Amino acid sequence: MTPAAPSATPSAVPAFDRSHTDDLIAYLQSSPSPFHAVAEAAARLEKAGFRQVEETAAWDAAFGGRYLIRGGALIAWYVPEGATPATGFRIVGAHTDSPNLRVKPIPDTGTDGWRQVAVEIYGGVPLNTWLDRDLGLSGRLALRDGSVVLVRIDEALLRVPQLAIHLDRSVNDALTLDRQRHLTPIWGLGDVHEGSLISYVAAAAGVTAADVVGWDLMVHDVQPPSYLGRDRELLAAPRLDNLLSVHAGTAALAAAAAGGTLDHIAVLAAFDHEENGSESDTGAQGPLLGNVLDRSVFARGGTLEDRARALAGTICLSSDMGHAVHPNYSERHEPGHHPMPNGGPILKVNVNNRYATNATGRAVFAAACEKAGVPWQSFVSNNSVPCGTTIGPITAARLGIATVDCGVAALSMHSARELCGADDPFLLASALKAFLES
Ligand code: ZN
Repeated sequence: MTPAAPSATPSAVPAFDRSHTDDLIAYLQSSPSPFHAVAEAAARLEKAGFRQVEETAAWDAAFGGRYLIRGGALIAWYVPEGATPATGFRIVGAHTDSPNLRVKPIPDTGTDGWRQVAVEIYGGVPLNTWLDRDLGLSGRLALRDGSVVLVRIDEALLRVPQLAIHLDRSVNDALTLDRQRHLTPIWGLGDVHEGSLISYVAAAAGVTAADVVGWDLMVHDVQPPSYLGRDRELLAAPRLDNLLSVHAGTAALAAAAAGGTLDHIAVLAAFDHEENGSESDTGAQGPLLGNVLDRSVFARGGTLEDRARALAGTICLSSDMGHAVHPNYSERHEPGHHPMPNGGPILKVNVNNRYATNATGRAVFAAACEKAGVPWQSFVSNNSVPCGTTIGPITAARLGIATVDCGVAALSMHSARELCGADDPFLLASALKAFLES
């Protein structure tokens, strides 16, 4: 590649529009946990005219935008005027969870005068990426009266300190981290008292500690996302996998609904628990999405026959992060398929159904990108390197609907801080909008 001419102002943000990525940065900052991610997506959908429905209420046949929240999952849908009970769905699928460290049921621990917090490891965490970072804490508290409050502490509260090189001269040859002993964050000095962490968190949430009877709490890096690179063409941020897709899907759904002329019912399905197998009431293995589609058909007076016709005319675009070619490890990638940041969204293929894409799905994805005027790239694994997977094959198998796996190419996937192209979030959102509108 010919080097670009030196920029007169190397640190300046490029002139073209990065408002979508700026908005993604704000979304990531607002969403340290899946519970915050769905609350923030819901707030954006409310602004776009969507209204929340309760799963326990009877649903009406109204046209327009609706959404529901269950824990860390959100399903939103827009029924256009003129939709019949047999109208098919266009679904954008994504997930709200990211690998991290989560607080154990009896959190207060410590030794040698240090206060520490006992944590479990959630999902496929590259453990070293959590060392020596300033960590905040977030999640939800369940109260004695049955209510749930979200809590977010965005300040340097905890840290998993790495052992000094003087005490382990082999660290640069073989860093070994024991998942039980070496990942326990410190959060200060002093005696250990049972209940002190939850008291601290309860105070931050503005509730009485004695009322807190359950919690789903997790740590996050408090360093804000940042543009990176000579021309600021990259984005360094936590939770790009997969809040980048949730954010893009939310923006695409709101824009498609505002456009007005849809032939399908446009849906965003943002699941929790993808990172540990999707097997939960809020994960893609559960009945949540299927229930919403069924109830949507039945609310409009549909029969089982209408439901079967609707699902036969349905396509799901499952969006998740994928691997950009790593310049220091290019031998790990398929030699003929080297996705690059800012090359546009990637189409993910695996013939053994780790991804759900097939020839007809490729055609759907290509048509959406062409309609949106965005470039796209193909991803396939090196045959000698095991391929990851997504909610795509799960959704295809569970609901029997045509599904395509796509996403955005990134480095450092699952790291506490990942890296992608700064233009790709907008390119993905544009393709998702075109898909929902087609
Ligand atoms: Zn993911």
